[in-house]
Amino acid sequence: MTTEHVGVQGMAWINGEFLPTRDATLSIFDSGFLMGANVFDTMAVWKGWLFKLDAHLDRFYRSAHAIRLELPYTKDQLRQIVVETVRRAGLREAYVQCVATRGLRANTPPETWPPTVMVYAIPYLWAVGGPDGLERGMRVLIPRTRNLPVEVLDPKIKTFNRLNGYLAKLEAIDAGVDEVVLLDTRGFLTEGRGANVFLVRSGMLYTPSEDVLWGITRETVFEIAAELRLRAEYAWLTPYDLYNADEAFFCTTAGGIAPIVEVDRRQVGDGRPGPITRRIAERYWEWHCDPRYALRVLE
Ligand code: PLP
Repeated sequence: MTTEHVGVQGMAWINGEFLPTRDATLSIFDSGFLMGANVFDTMAVWKGWLFKLDAHLDRFYRSAHAIRLELPYTKDQLRQIVVETVRRAGLREAYVQCVATRGLRANTPPETWPPTVMVYAIPYLWAVGGPDGLERGMRVLIPRTRNLPVEVLDPKIKTFNRLNGYLAKLEAIDAGVDEVVLLDTRGFLTEGRGANVFLVRSGMLYTPSEDVLWGITRETVFEIAAELRLRAEYAWLTPYDLYNADEAFFCTTAGGIAPIVEVDRRQVGDGRPGPITRRIAERYWEWHCDPRYALRVLE
């Protein structure tokens, strides 16, 4: 079986140069690859609108600051580069990523290495769920592999250091289910692989606070909940809470709101995507084309 990689269609910008993503390559000596010295952020373009660009750029700069990587572009410059990359890609539904690495490894202290900065736009990717996810719902495993504790690597830093997530996904594939919710080292729920998680109980929303990435979709769910007059809170949650929730869902830029209908072979709620999840998902996609939250980049 031959598979096409995700970048056969799309446009990239690397250290000042635009090129088609199929021609975009990185040196084998890039420290982002060799040493995991990288940060990134992922955005979505939906029906030609780029969602929450500034919130994503702010988080990208915060991640870079946390690893002492000074980006050689202002936020304004990078904003223009992202918009131009999306326009050149011409994709009305796109997955857009900004990536910065410490650059080419050298025999001098790392902070002297010129960073590699790139932006690319490719056809929209569903990291969790899928176009039919709202109908189907996801079957989930709580894997043996845990999320990285904050003592090892702060999950607020958005980095590709994700081998634990990859191993957890292999466990899910072996178990014949769709996705995972990772526990911390003490047994509390953290997040999915590239997605935050919410559960609904008695009409209220709950999501873990610590040991997770501060997701922009999660923040958006809080905003939508306020608009829908639903209460949402951070909480310490265990697998028991997920098994006994009325509804549960993942949320991420790459997949939106993806209902969870089964966890560790226990049905969640009535085993179908729930009404609160559906209302939030509906509003979430509406907001993608709302000038309060999104920027029109393609007609
Ligand atoms: N948690 C992790 C580990 C992620 O990698 C992501 C997104 O890639 C998320 C949560 C969701 O974040 P956002 O809603 O900002 O896409």
